[in-house]
Amino acid sequence: MNKILICGAGPVGLTLAIQCARYGVEFILIEKEKEKPLYSKALAIWSGVQETFEAIGVDISGSAVALEYMQIILEGAAQKVIHLRQELPSKYKVPLILPQYDTEAHLKKRLLELGGSIQEGVELLSFQELPDKILAKVLDNGVEKILETSWLAGCDGAHSVVRHGASISFNGYKEPDNFALCDCEISGPFSANSLIMALGKTSVAAFFPLPGSLWRIVLKSEVIGVAPSLDFFQRIFDKEGYGIKLKNPRWLSYFSVHERIADTFAKGRIFLLGDAAHVHSPAGGQGMNTGIQDAYNLGWKFPYIDRAPGNVSSSYNIERSLIARKVIREATLKEHIIMNHSPWLKWVKRIAVPVVTHCSFLHAKLSYSLSGLGLCYPLSPLILKGGGRFDGTPSIKHCLYTTATDLPPLPPDLLVLPGSKERWVLVRPDRFIAAEGRIGEYGLLKAYFQNLLT
Ligand SMILES: Cc1cc2nc3c(=O)[nH]c(=O)nc-3n(C[C@H](O)[C@H](O)[C@H](O)COP(=O)(O)OP(=O)(O)OC[C@H]3O[C@@H](n4cnc5c(N)ncnc54)[C@H](O)[C@@H]3O)c2cc1C
Repeated sequence: MNKILICGAGPVGLTLAIQCARYGVEFILIEKEKEKPLYSKALAIWSGVQETFEAIGVDISGSAVALEYMQIILEGAAQKVIHLRQELPSKYKVPLILPQYDTEAHLKKRLLELGGSIQEGVELLSFQELPDKILAKVLDNGVEKILETSWLAGCDGAHSVVRHGASISFNGYKEPDNFALCDCEISGPFSANSLIMALGKTSVAAFFPLPGSLWRIVLKSEVIGVAPSLDFFQRIFDKEGYGIKLKNPRWLSYFSVHERIADTFAKGRIFLLGDAAHVHSPAGGQGMNTGIQDAYNLGWKFPYIDRAPGNVSSSYNIERSLIARKVIREATLKEHIIMNHSPWLKWVKRIAVPVVTHCSFLHAKLSYSLSGLGLCYPLSPLILKGGGRFDGTPSIKHCLYTTATDLPPLPPDLLVLPGSKERWVLVRPDRFIAAEGRIGEYGLLKAYFQNLLT
């Protein structure tokens, strides 16, 4: 029997499968689509996920656009350029822009390199959770089959069959406003490598440079029935006086925004990750990034699941649901401030935007908060003290940084590396500090491995 059934080969399911392959955990990855459309939802990849990609061996550097600048156009007037390259505590200083299908292609390539595979055209229909296993009914290229695994990971997006089947509620609400989306070429004064936020007299729009000659436009808009036409965007931007010409559209669509979170991310033999567990406004571009970090978090814990099922599940749930709640709060706030063009907020923006664009302290703060580098996990069975990110070389194993010579017996797959003369620091494979203490005092170190191994 395979250990885990991963449902959905989006960016999150692929990352979880890579983690399983790296740790030698047997998995089945199913994806209902045989071929995915070349439309990209997510674009931005922040420093935190760039670090994660380095750790799991995914190299996107050659294909992405470095997003160096942001420029706000306030009612037709271009404001001072904001530098997004900031002094971050990482070698990855700028966000990268890469269409989601390219990110998925890089993840898939890595999975195949590691000997993994994807069963395409296989849809999860329903499942049954028994005390010792999962029985999953799938439609495998038109034929119904039963798959038997020990665990089930729902990486199957916002309408998750896994979440529904596990009766986990998805509380939240739908934002009243909709957005029109367009991927096309633009000629005009916009400079490459820049995110343009256009706060107009009657509209709010964001322009993101894509690799090649395309731009992604997201425009707050009324739904007008059918997909918006290029003309629809052009007319609005002509009226705002941006001096740009749109051409060669690749994708025209609408989307609505939900702010929702699952009641729990782990229940019995079931885990929820990515959009199956949390959805929110794309303002701030955090959805896929957060989901990839869910998979990175759960993946390294899987080898321990038979010995410590309760601690693996509860640590995943506690750690990741807290982060998701924070991400949703911040994305909602950004959405309500940036995309809202009510008269009083327009008045506030007229005063605040020129100040904000001149304040380099605020730019550094914004870059840090979006980078995903400031994450800190709360105490959980697998965070006994610390919880912050450790700035060190990635390792597939736990690392103990110390110079102590009186260490208690430790598991064999732990790396002991040089550290301070007074203290020891235990770093998990996902580079979060799990516990720390003074040399000679090893209570937390022993407790951590007891939680993980028994
Ligand atoms: C316009 C827009 C812009 C965005 N921009 C950003 C951004 O810049 N940065 C960012 O981080 N996020 C962004 N997001 C959010 C991001 O796209 C999502 O968070 C991300 O796609 C979630 O990945 P996932 O793998 O959890 O789910 P999905 O990408 O939805 O993948 C789920 C997969 O599961 C498969 N599946 C579903 N049901 C089944 C089943 N029953 N059986 C088998 N397979 C199944 C689906 O076919 C799919 O392949 C944006 C979203 C939108 C709408």
